[in-house]
Amino acid sequence: MTLTADRVGQSFGAATHLVCRACGAHANLGADYSCWECFGPLEVAYEFGDITREQIEAGPLSLWRYAALLPVPANVAESRNLAPGMTRLHRADNLAKALGMTGTLWVKDDSGNPTHSFKDRVVAVAQSAGIQLGFTTLACASTGNLAHAVAAAAARAGQRSVVLVPSNLESNKIQATAAYNGFVIGIDGNYDDVNRLCSELIGEEVSADWGFVNVNLRPYYAEGSKTVGYEIAEQLGWRLPDQVVIPVASGALLTKIDKGWREFVKLGLVDGRDYRVFGAQATGCNPVSTAFANGLDVIRPVKPDTIAKSLAIGNPADGPYALDAVRRSNGAIGDVSDEEVVEGIRLLAETEGIFAETAGGVTVAVTRKLLAEGKLDPAGETVIVNTGEGLKTLDAISSGTGFSATISPSVDLVAEVIASGK
Ligand SMILES: *Cc1c(COP(=O)(O)O)cnc(C)c1O
Ligand SMILES: [Zn+2]
Repeated sequence: MTLTADRVGQSFGAATHLVCRACGAHANLGADYSCWECFGPLEVAYEFGDITREQIEAGPLSLWRYAALLPVPANVAESRNLAPGMTRLHRADNLAKALGMTGTLWVKDDSGNPTHSFKDRVVAVAQSAGIQLGFTTLACASTGNLAHAVAAAAARAGQRSVVLVPSNLESNKIQATAAYNGFVIGIDGNYDDVNRLCSELIGEEVSADWGFVNVNLRPYYAEGSKTVGYEIAEQLGWRLPDQVVIPVASGALLTKIDKGWREFVKLGLVDGRDYRVFGAQATGCNPVSTAFANGLDVIRPVKPDTIAKSLAIGNPADGPYALDAVRRSNGAIGDVSDEEVVEGIRLLAETEGIFAETAGGVTVAVTRKLLAEGKLDPAGETVIVNTGEGLKTLDAISSGTGFSATISPSVDLVAEVIASGK
């Protein structure tokens, strides 16, 4: 499906066309995701007008305050959607102290989104594009959080949803997704198998009216991640931090936070400066971290085996671009074991009262590791991105019943439990 130029003007805001990130070829705005010349990934290109801080500040308290920087109509905030975003930027002094940091540490806490992960952002933008392009069903391949976000967004808009996920996902994530009453299809295979199936479904009769947010709508979807970067900059008082640590699955979030910051600098919304971008993976699925460590540009796919299922993409589509952003900024990518992931979850909870899902544990643990290796500057102002909520991955950290003790209702027995310590 391709639109004529006059409709594009209304439907996709300042977006003008799609551009191949590999060879630079242009394509019309449409449900296209790979270049017709070289099969490279397509990205949205824009011609921005003047955009001021005041205009943004006067906008809605959601990611739609940045609508002028996204491939969405100007009035997108009025459509039936979940309006995610504007999550808190939490100052994490206790965690900084525990990590031996002297610079200010912030947690961008995206567990505060409507379905408790940053995926609501990418879905909101892809959903808008899908509607403009005439798709009536919202679909995706997912490691869990995306399925939840798609099912909820479709429910809100009165659309049908079809989500395809590996059948071994955390049952909390499947149950939560099923609550919205869309199709939840478990596939016997890993995420990369599910993703391949979705690519095969494009153009088939059964799925002719399905907009797959992360397949045929992927160029629009990925742009939603820029808003994490925009918000960090605005919430810091319109400036950029020294360094940022971002979890990496496909690599889109990391790539787009960097893209968002470069756009802000170009538009004069923040002063340009050198900032460093760091990536975080689990050792059980570390293709981007491995390529970084070995100085390679190509990513060798892996078979994921980690409790951090939301990051378990063995063949990451945006991996090379994430590597590029990290290298260009003089950052690094680290990975940590599942035990360290659990320690990271606990450390964030104990120090800051934030209960993160496994992806957040990965980010905290990699931050600790990069500090120990002297790669992150302990004196720098640092932002770490918590992308999801701990209740979604309870299985990963639960030990026993969770009780410190189980007793009869007696003051003495309570005193005994307290006296025996933690
Ligand atoms: C999807 C996801 C990520 C990573 O996103 P990519 O853009 O694919 O790198 C990180 N954290 C959580 C919780 C996610 O669901
Ligand atoms: Zn190309």
